[in-house]
Formats: sequence, C-alpha cells, structure tokens
Amino acid sequence: MLRKAGSLVAKVLSKLKEQAKSGVSTAELDETALQMTRQAGAIALFKGFPCPYMDKPFPGGICASVNEQLVHGIPSKKVVLKEGDILSIDFGIKLNGYCGDSALTVGVGQVVPDRQKLMDVTQRLLDISVEQMAPGVKWSTIAGKMEETAKGAGFSVVKDYVGHGIGTEMHEDPKVPNFVSRELLRDDIMLKEGMVLAVEPMVNMGNAGVRTLSDGWTVITKDRKCSAHFEHTIAVVKDGCEVLTARK
Ligand code: MG
Ligand code: MG
Repeated sequence: MLRKAGSLVAKVLSKLKEQAKSGVSTAELDETALQMTRQAGAIALFKGFPCPYMDKPFPGGICASVNEQLVHGIPSKKVVLKEGDILSIDFGIKLNGYCGDSALTVGVGQVVPDRQKLMDVTQRLLDISVEQMAPGVKWSTIAGKMEETAKGAGFSVVKDYVGHGIGTEMHEDPKVPNFVSRELLRDDIMLKEGMVLAVEPMVNMGNAGVRTLSDGWTVITKDRKCSAHFEHTIAVVKDGCEVLTARK
C-alpha cells in the first residue's frame, strides 16, 4: 500500500518537474498536482493542514518554495517562475489509507553554478541515506555523514525541520534529523526491517537560520540566501532499503 502511495507521489513530482518552466505560476503546478491526485482517487495531504500560528489552513496541494524560501511556500498565481530560479516542490498524498511524501528542488532553465551546487549537494545528502539505510544501522551514523557532506561543501543543514516516520499518517514518530544532536545520540534510531521513514534534507547556501513569514506558512532563510530540499519515503528492507517515492 505504501509502494502504491509512493509511486503516485513520484508520478506527480515527475510531471511537476517537467512543467516547472519560466513563465509558469506555482498555482498552475498546484492545479496539476490536485488534478492528478483526484484522478487517482487519492487525498492531497497538505491541503487544509492546520497552521501552527494562526487560523489559516494550508491552501495548496503542494508546497512551492522559490530561492530563499525553504519550505511551506504557498502556491500562487502571483508567483511566476523565471529563468535561474530554484523551486522546491514538496508533495504528499494518502491513497487507500497509506501515505507518501516526497520533495525535490528543480532549476528553472539555466541556473548559476552555486545554485546548481546547492541542489547537487542536497540531492547527495538524500543519496547518502539511501546508500546507508539498512537494518542494524544507527540513524546518527547516517545523519553525521549527511551533515559533514553539507558542511564540506560550505553549506549548512537546516536544524528547525527534520524528517519523520510515515505510514497511515503523514507524520509519525520518530523524528529523523539530518544532523547529529545530543538528543539524537541519547535517543538514537536503530533501523529495523519494516520501518518507513520520510528522509528530507534541507540545505542552506548560507547560515542555517530560518524564519516564518507573516503569512503563517512560508519559511525563508534569515540571510535570504538560497535553500534546497529533497525528500523520499524510504522503507528499511531485509538487506538495505527501498525508495518508495523513486521517480522513473
Ligand atoms: Mg514532504
Ligand atoms: Mg515530510
């Protein structure tokens, strides 16, 4: 069931990645995602998600976050993509009671080399987790490698947002950070066959600091430098792991 949910998320994100061209608004991408979700008989999980700060449920089916926006950007007709932007798209659905959650960052047309590097490094962090996840591995070992890789490239890993368990609910325990903290070392996650985690590194070109805009949702970097985000729903299986939201 989780494979089916994951494969729908992958299909939608592949389509949106193709569609994310200069002149397209993030509202158009949102419409595509909602339409594909409806056609598949699934539920778009972000739409109507309660806001922690005010009475303003999330209005979109996707989170569309441009450049210095990190996550939770609200899709809008007013946000029109232009050449050189980097766009993070996060999308989650429930199909037959099971959830899938995945994100990617895509360059609009030609992007400057440091933005490309930011996207490549963030994708690399997610790839590291896929290479390392297996029964008996401690999450802190993987998180440490992810954090080192970001720092080694001169970037910083976001601390305010982390990955999560996923199953019949989108956000389940445990919290899955992309860095090593005292808390993680004290309460480490020992990977076991059958665990399903949404791993989602967010990497900033500048400092790790972030803040939420007054719309109650959009999270931006404090220094207004670009941020990238990649996420997969990943199952721990007998001899490694299986990416349930892998795009073809
Ligand atoms: Mg997500
Ligand atoms: Mg997630």
